[in-house]
Amino acid sequence: MMPSALFNTCLRNVQAWAGEDCLLCGAEPGPELLCPACVADLPALPESCPRCALPSPAGAVCGSCLSRPPNFDATLALWRYEFPCDGLVQALKYRARLALAGFFARSLASRPLPEVDLIVPMPLHPRRLADRGFNQALEIARGLARHLGRPIAPRGVLRVKDTPPQTALPYEERAKNVRGAFLCKLDLSGASVAVLDDVMTTGATLNELARALKRAGATRVENLVVARTVPR
Ligand SMILES: [Zn+2]
Ligand SMILES: [Zn+2]
Repeated sequence: MMPSALFNTCLRNVQAWAGEDCLLCGAEPGPELLCPACVADLPALPESCPRCALPSPAGAVCGSCLSRPPNFDATLALWRYEFPCDGLVQALKYRARLALAGFFARSLASRPLPEVDLIVPMPLHPRRLADRGFNQALEIARGLARHLGRPIAPRGVLRVKDTPPQTALPYEERAKNVRGAFLCKLDLSGASVAVLDDVMTTGATLNELARALKRAGATRVENLVVARTVPR
């Protein structure tokens, strides 16, 4: 099947899912949205830098993180942001297939996760939130908070600067555009924080959020993301 046809099938199935067939291949009903074979086929990351989740031989901290350490301390990404994972993320985000948030949360919960005091979902600017009606990161964080038994801060961190999607921009320009984008109203003195986001592209936005959290006193910030863009 051509990727685009499979993608359309995927979206149709997302719309039709009611605890039934696998979203991607239509296999027999199971306990999860995707059958075990399709989950196993999702695009895994190669050995990666523990800090930024980009490919790195033997899982060592990469040269870029060594020479210019980001504000976050670690990143766990479930999959590469590629077919069919990109379609799943977009179905949650742009087609409000909220059942996928639960699937992503359970998938994260199945990995070895850090001990944290608080989960902070990547905030959306109020204008973007009004357009979409929900924050996909918050939906995933809710599921994860239940699994981890950890509190979540849905309103303690605000996005005060509306930045248009700029995935095509290089890191430096993204970093400039997101500067000052977040306001943390919480006292995070001594806290270890997990930041939940759906997609990590250059990492500039997550870096800026981590900066705001550290300024509010957080001692450690770890990113938990569904998918990581890996440059080719
Ligand atoms: Zn399947
Ligand atoms: Zn790195």
